[in-house]
Amino acid sequence: MGRVVLVTGSSRGIGRAVALRFARDGDHVVVNHHGDAEAAARVAREVAELGGTATTVDADAASVAEVREMVDSVVAAHGPVDVLVANAGICPFVPFLEVTEEVYDQVHGVNLKGAFFACQGVAKTLIEHGRPGAIVAVSSVAVYRPGPMQAAYAPTKSGLLSLVRALAVQLAPHGIRVNAVLPGDIRTDIYLGAVTHGQAEEASARTVPLGRIGRPEEVADVVHYLASPQASYVTGAEILVDGALTHARP
Ligand code: NAD
Repeated sequence: MGRVVLVTGSSRGIGRAVALRFARDGDHVVVNHHGDAEAAARVAREVAELGGTATTVDADAASVAEVREMVDSVVAAHGPVDVLVANAGICPFVPFLEVTEEVYDQVHGVNLKGAFFACQGVAKTLIEHGRPGAIVAVSSVAVYRPGPMQAAYAPTKSGLLSLVRALAVQLAPHGIRVNAVLPGDIRTDIYLGAVTHGQAEEASARTVPLGRIGRPEEVADVVHYLASPQASYVTGAEILVDGALTHARP
């Protein structure tokens, strides 16, 4: 489709799968990372192999200045960002009583503040250029089923949902749709961090009604749908991508 698609935190995991999904449309994908240049360059090469084009940008999602600079540089080089996927996220597994101010600020900075200011920068330029657009935020089932070590993380994902609802209303008059996906257990570095801190992988898969953990590509397909013309009347929505984990009895 030739759109400009900015995916925060796309050097690996769900973000990488999202970048590759848009590449198949021939889009220009901006692969954001923070200090992960080699992996980001690999993703950019994969995007090109699939028929898209890509640039990589190192920017810390927790830094408002770096997020603004990233959006400005993308707009200067490629024009307004048509699709923003606010995906960058960290999930330090720390028991509630041991969460320090530093951990709290870092999780909120990357997961929520970074997404907030990326949305602001992208929306501003779309409005200035009179262009429609789509924003998809990667939240989490932790909103409904926070794990025992996710007291700092879960509120950032609830905050993202709240942000999505607020922006869906405020940006609707400008033709900008804003939605959220809520992944369950998806096989990425974050998930592998969780299983080493708790259940073994097979045991955790047994708690999912579909009987297995998910693949990053299965989240990417839903993100892609939400940003597509097929979702033209969908805004302010949240889609669980969790194999019914949220609705299962613990
Ligand atoms: P991951 O650790 O593989 O990927 C996280 C990505 O975020 C990486 O590309 C990393 O470079 C990037 N990132 C981290 N800190 C950053 C920073 N300061 N600035 C810019 N980028 C930064 O994990 P993932 O599972 O692919 O996570 C992607 C998103 O999905 C996160 O928001 C996560 O909370 C969410 N999520 C994941 C799962 C799961 O089970 N994997 C479940 C629910 C939600």
